[in-house]
Amino acid sequence: MRLKTFPGGVHPHDHKHFSASAPIEVMPLPQRVVIPMSQHIGAPSVPIVKVGDEVKAGQKIADAGGFVSIPQHASISGKVTKIDVFPHPAGASALAIEITGDGNDSWIELGDDPNFLDLSAEELKNRIGEAGICGMGGAGFPTFVKLSPPADKPIDTVILNGVECEPYLTADDRLMLEKTQEVVNGLKILMKVLGAKQGIIGIEANKPDDIAAMKKILASESQFRVVPLKLQYPQGAEKQLIYAATRRKVPSGGLPMAVGVVVQNVATAFAIYEAVRYKKPLVERIISVTGSVVAHPKNLKARIGTPFTELVEFCGGVTEDPGKIISGGPMMGFALPSLAAPMAKGSSGLVLMNEKESKTLEERNCLRCARCVDVCPMNLLPSSIAQAVKAGAMDIALKAGLEDCMKCGSCAYVCPAHIRLVQWIDTGKIRHAEALRGKK
Ligand code: SF4
Ligand code: SF4
Repeated sequence: MRLKTFPGGVHPHDHKHFSASAPIEVMPLPQRVVIPMSQHIGAPSVPIVKVGDEVKAGQKIADAGGFVSIPQHASISGKVTKIDVFPHPAGASALAIEITGDGNDSWIELGDDPNFLDLSAEELKNRIGEAGICGMGGAGFPTFVKLSPPADKPIDTVILNGVECEPYLTADDRLMLEKTQEVVNGLKILMKVLGAKQGIIGIEANKPDDIAAMKKILASESQFRVVPLKLQYPQGAEKQLIYAATRRKVPSGGLPMAVGVVVQNVATAFAIYEAVRYKKPLVERIISVTGSVVAHPKNLKARIGTPFTELVEFCGGVTEDPGKIISGGPMMGFALPSLAAPMAKGSSGLVLMNEKESKTLEERNCLRCARCVDVCPMNLLPSSIAQAVKAGAMDIALKAGLEDCMKCGSCAYVCPAHIRLVQWIDTGKIRHAEALRGKK
C-alpha cells in the first residue's frame, strides 16, 4: 500500500527502541513541583495564591492572563513555598509557583459524567478551558482558543495527530496503545465542540499496533478514518499532516481553519476527555525519559512541575555524564544546560545523549548544493534566509520565507556544511518580531 505523505522532509534515525516497548509507569509523587506560568503560547498565567497557602491537587493557582492564555493548577497537594523565577523547560528562566508536597495527594472534588457527549458544545468547551489545556505536542497553543474559530471559518474535519515523528519519543505511541478508547473519546468531544462531521487519526506506519487498535475501536463508525502515514519527518507538523491526510493545502501565513480543519495532538485529546468527563484539570501527562545514557528509559505518567532530576533518578539515573540534555525531541526540542527545569504541559520527552552523539560539527562555507531547499517541507530557501539574516538584510529574509519557516530543522539536518540554519532563521524571527513591536 502506498502510504500518504507530504513533499520534502527527511528520514532521521528514529532511536525509538530505547522506550517504545516500555509500558506507561506512574511516577511516584514528587516532593516538590514547580509550575511555570508560561507553559503555552500567549500571555503568561497570573498567580492567585501566595506563599504559605495550602493547596489541593487540581486547585486553580493561576488565572489565564488574557484570551490567548490558560489557567494553571496545583499538581500535588501541599504548601506554596515560593513564587519566583525558576529554570524553564524551554530554556532560560520564567515565573513559576513552587509547591512543597504534604505527601497526602488530597484532591479537589472531581466528578464523573459518563454521558459526557450529551453535554452542550458550549459546556464541553468551557470544561476544556477551565482545565488549563494547551497543545501537548509541544506547540502549547491554548486549546480553548483553537476551539473558538470565527463564524466564517466552519470546521468540517478534526485531525488527531498521532504521528510522533520526533526521534526518541514514544509517549504518544504508548498512550494510543494503552488508552485507545479515551483518546477516541477526546476526538469525539472535539468534533462535537466544532460541529465537525469527519474525524481523522494520523499515525506513522512504524506504529502498527496503534493503527490496529484505533481501527478496531472505530470499525463501525463511518465518520472516522485512521490514516497510516509514511515515515518522514516532519510528518507531524500541522500543515504537512493536513496535506498528507486530506490533500488540503493551508495557505502561506494561514491557519488550518482556513481549510476547515483543526488539528490536536493525541495527548491533548486524552486530557480533553479527562477534563470533560471528570472535570480534571491538566496536572499530569505522559513523558518519555530516554536516550543512550538513561539507565532504564521509560514512559512515565508524571505530575506537571516534577523536576527533570527526579524523572531521571526514577529511571535509574545515568550511565555516564550526558553530552546533551534535550527537553522535547532532538529536532525541535530545547537543549538545556542542566536537569534543573521542571516538566511542563508540553513536555513530551526528555532526551539524554552521550558526548559522541552530541558532537557539534564545525560550520563551513555554503556549498550551494541546494539540499536544504530540496528537503524544506514549506518550499522555502533556507540558505538564502540564513544568509540574509547574517547580513542583516531582513527584507530579503522575509521575501525568502522567514515567517513561513516552522523551525523543523530538516534543512540543518541535511546540510553537508553543518551551517546552523535554524539558529540563523530563529535569530531572524526574533529580530523581525522586535521590529514589529517597535512599530506599534
Ligand atoms: S527553512 Fe524552516 S521549514 Fe524549511 S526545512 Fe528549514 S527549518 Fe524546516
Ligand atoms: S544544504 Fe547547506 S551547503 Fe547546501 S545549499 Fe543549503 S546551506 Fe548551503
